[in-house]
Amino acid sequence: MMAADPNCIFCKIVAGEIPSHKIDEDDKTLAFMDINPWTKGHALVIPKEHSRNIYDADPEDLAAAHKTAQRVARRMRDRLNCEGINTLQSSEPVAMQTVFHTHVHVIPRYSDDGLRLPAHPQPGEHEELAGLAEQLRA
Ligand code: AMP
Ligand code: ZN
Repeated sequence: MMAADPNCIFCKIVAGEIPSHKIDEDDKTLAFMDINPWTKGHALVIPKEHSRNIYDADPEDLAAAHKTAQRVARRMRDRLNCEGINTLQSSEPVAMQTVFHTHVHVIPRYSDDGLRLPAHPQPGEHEELAGLAEQLRA
């Protein structure tokens, strides 16, 4: 029996208590259409087991979700003729997470889809990058 959160909308989808347009399922994961798509074919992959996000998810569930995301991405390429894919996993509100059950967005990209991700990269400063690497090194 998978651990489920009775207040979690994605646990309810796993349990079949609310409807979804499912596209893939295996023992650890479920994939279904996002109800508010960024582009045509936007889907979500979730571990069936409840976790909040990348911090507390079982690493095996994260790996399984990304394996499913790859299957779904290849199907999008072959059946929707998308030209590329963005995957996105948002953790915590500051990172735009709104549903607190771990999920991976699989977003088909088309040259005319008009989607612009809100990033404004600037060249990194060498000393700062070195300091951050020092803080983050395993
Ligand atoms: P995030 O903002 O990364 O937490 O993404 C949550 C995503 O879940 C959004 O893209 C929503 O459109 C989507 N979503 C919320 N409720 C449902 C639902 N019942 N079925 C399918 N997708 C949903
Ligand atoms: Zn849940």
